[in-house]
Amino acid sequence: MDNKSHLLIIVPCYNEEEVLRETNHRLSDLLDNLVREERIDEGHILYVDDGSRDHTWALIEEFASAGFPVQGLKLAHNVGHQQALWAGLEYAAVHADMSVSIDADLQDDVQSIREMVDYYNKGIDIVYGIRKERKTDTFFKKSTAQMFYRLMENLGGEIVYNHADFRLMSRRAMQALVSYPERNLFLRGMVCTLGFPSAMVYYDRQKRFAGESKYPFSKMLSFAVDGVTSFSVRPLRYIVLLGLLFILIALLAIIYGFLSYLDGSAIPGWTSLLVSIWFIGGVVTTSVGIIGEYVGKIYKEVKRRPRYFIEKIIGE
Ligand code: UDP
Ligand code: MG
Repeated sequence: MDNKSHLLIIVPCYNEEEVLRETNHRLSDLLDNLVREERIDEGHILYVDDGSRDHTWALIEEFASAGFPVQGLKLAHNVGHQQALWAGLEYAAVHADMSVSIDADLQDDVQSIREMVDYYNKGIDIVYGIRKERKTDTFFKKSTAQMFYRLMENLGGEIVYNHADFRLMSRRAMQALVSYPERNLFLRGMVCTLGFPSAMVYYDRQKRFAGESKYPFSKMLSFAVDGVTSFSVRPLRYIVLLGLLFILIALLAIIYGFLSYLDGSAIPGWTSLLVSIWFIGGVVTTSVGIIGEYVGKIYKEVKRRPRYFIEKIIGE
């Protein structure tokens, strides 16, 4: 283990003035304890103010000048939770040995960070915080979230069930992650593709401490669409299948049309119309799907993802 370990707790904040004071107390208490228990040598809280329009930044400045172990990044514009977290991770990859990302609203269990750090000290690079159950979520949030995990699974996206963005990452894991050049971020999926030694910590997710969710349904939906389209080109492939299905229907229609023509029950012109509609539809859809296949390939290329990471080196 490193003889010097510096923990940075990354907290993205968007209009969080109602919770931030309490969050700051709990996190700085925790850092004090972790240092006292010799689990870490040093710890700071890194607040990333994601273009808040309330007094969030003023509070962060206040904490820093009051002597709390606080650092802050203020983003010029609201870029969304994922990008804000990324900003924090890029900073932490340079300034800390490990980071823990946690939401400002105290929904994730602050005490689980202790367990995460213990894993880090045993040489684990990534520790996922997994919520045990969703009894504090509304039925709507719970069922839409479950639907999302299932969809991702079916589309072949690697994702840890019931893990949001509460996780510990070692410096090398952060460095690996920030070398991903893509701009479409779906961090919980991207982290799974790093492949360093990992562990899981289970906790009960609480109700938001104060304030209201900064994720209304529309944001949640676009987050889910991002999640799928950043990880899978399968929706494009389904278009091809749909087109082939249409062509098959056209063939059946030809047979059916021909038979009804033979027994004389067909209205003149109906057979050719029916057949051409399905056939043209099928051809067009298949073509779009094939173009989609290529777009999918280009999409994968354009992301310019790194091909591998070296986990261990012998020698040197
Ligand atoms: N957040 C952010 N930028 C945004 C929206 C949210 O930095 O545009 C932060 C927010 O301050 C919080 C975290 O992301 O710390 C999670 O947001 P929230 O708790 O509102 O989401 P929910 O728990 O309802 O999914
Ligand atoms: Mg929340």
